[in-house]
Amino acid sequence: MNAVVYRAPYDVRVESVPNPALQDGRDAIVRLTSSALCGSDLHMYRGHVPPDPGLILGHEGMGVIMAVGDNVRLRKVGERVVLPAHLYCGVCVKCAQGLSAQCLTMRPGEVGAAFGYAGKGHYPGMHAEMVRVPYADANCIPLPGEPMDSAEDDFLMLADALVGGWHAADLAQVWGTPTVAIFGAGPIGLLTLMSVRMRGAGTVFVVDGVDARLAKVRELGGIPIDFRAGDPVEAIRAHRRREGLPPGESALPGVDAVIDAVGFEALNVDNPAQEKPDQIIWDMARLVNAGGSLGVMGVYVKHDAKPSGSEGTDGSLRVPWGLLFEKGVSIGMGRTNDRQYTRHLRDLVMAGVVRPGTVVTHHMPLSDAPEGYRLFSERADQIIKLVFNP
Ligand SMILES: [Zn+2]
Ligand SMILES: [Zn+2]
Repeated sequence: MNAVVYRAPYDVRVESVPNPALQDGRDAIVRLTSSALCGSDLHMYRGHVPPDPGLILGHEGMGVIMAVGDNVRLRKVGERVVLPAHLYCGVCVKCAQGLSAQCLTMRPGEVGAAFGYAGKGHYPGMHAEMVRVPYADANCIPLPGEPMDSAEDDFLMLADALVGGWHAADLAQVWGTPTVAIFGAGPIGLLTLMSVRMRGAGTVFVVDGVDARLAKVRELGGIPIDFRAGDPVEAIRAHRRREGLPPGESALPGVDAVIDAVGFEALNVDNPAQEKPDQIIWDMARLVNAGGSLGVMGVYVKHDAKPSGSEGTDGSLRVPWGLLFEKGVSIGMGRTNDRQYTRHLRDLVMAGVVRPGTVVTHHMPLSDAPEGYRLFSERADQIIKLVFNP
């Protein structure tokens, strides 16, 4: 089959590789109909978190089951399924707690695993024609409809982007929260906006520096804040003062909840040509109101092979802990516990409550993947979310 293989920073290739085969009675083989490119893929593409050369990339996919092992009980050949990015067994103590991103089974001795991701278990990814799915009863989430029907892109967003947005809202404890700010209007940031609106958030600000994304924020009912025009924290405070703060709240011009949908590849607000891995952490600490909450969904890594500025390679950052303590802030962070969300959000898609596929701007055949990676990395051609169809 053809698959997108990592060779070196900025060098991914479409190569002919062996078809995946069943290796365990609990496996399934899925023929992929769609797979999406994600900001997390760029951490590898740009050399911050380089995978072993030869790894098939891609952790957002869906398709049709072609084969199942003897011990697969629930899933059947021919079923249409979406495959959550973070692999889990479904039965270990962490999975039983709903904390599937910390699954103890998939990467023995460590926690959590993922398809096509450096340091997450060497599981071949889904920018390919087919994929092997371990623990298929847990990791294949059945879908209604037919391959490539009008809901294909909506269901594909269940693999990572929409569940990630919902998880971010969970981390920041957003339910009926009057004011929310989201840093980052990439696919995760936009689907976080969709998620917090479904969860009854009032005013939602979304910070970014790409025109196409800022336009999408407005289309989805958020207030776009362009950091190229100056300090986004001050811009949000000024906007709130201009609109009129609630009676008795003049000392609280920040927001109740702040979500980081950017992570360590953040750009320096004072010099957007540079990266500044702690930029969002400091902005969140300044912006959150006393007693508020922070949700950190953007990725931070234990080892950065290409650190920017004075930060080291070990993932340590300067954090304004004293300011956060003084404000009495709650902080949630970490990768998505897909097991808690995928079925629930699938059902909301089926009910027509949410159409996450509206963030998809580009479709390409898998053979054009190197060009797709380049476009996405450069934020060119008004790109927001790219889907490969083998
Ligand atoms: Zn992703
Ligand atoms: Zn588990």
